[in-house]
Parts: sequence; structure tokens; C-alpha cells
Amino acid sequence: MSWEKDETGITFYCDTPDCNSVLTVPPGTDFISCWKDANARIGWVSFKRAGRPWDYFCPRCAADAATAHREYNRQEQERERIKARNSY
Ligand SMILES: [Zn+2]
Repeated sequence: MSWEKDETGITFYCDTPDCNSVLTVPPGTDFISCWKDANARIGWVSFKRAGRPWDYFCPRCAADAATAHREYNRQEQERERIKARNSY
């Protein structure tokens, strides 16, 4: 689970293994505006892979996570291309 809501607010957990970064946003706002703030002001990022929940990454891991996500998408397109070719 990448984020959690309780009486102290909303807490985001970085999904990079071995990274223990957390970000707690005080209560009183809804998830979308909390996330917008975390993203725009603090630099957290999120990525979605097909069939999986969203992953969240702290600013320190954002660049690596973006690279990994691009690579994942590239491989995914390659798999789709091969699948499409093999279906003829
Ligand atoms: Zn991190």
C-alpha cells in the first residue's frame, strides 16, 4: 500500500525498496488535493502499471522511478507488438 489515511492525515510511502521516505499531509483535505500539493510543491511522483495499483515515489527517487517506468512502458509496447505480430 502506497498511501494511508487516518486521523493524523494522509501518509504517502515511497515505493522504492529500501527507501523509507514518508510524507504526511495534515487532515482536512481530500486525497486529490493532498496529492496535487505533494506532487507540485514537494516533488513526489506516481506511476501506474497495467493491472497494478499506483506506485508513489519521493523526490529523491523520482528520477530513477521515471526512468524505470519509461523502460517498463517500452518493454510493454514491445511485448504488445510481438503479440500482435504473432496473432496473424
Ligand atoms: Zn524514495
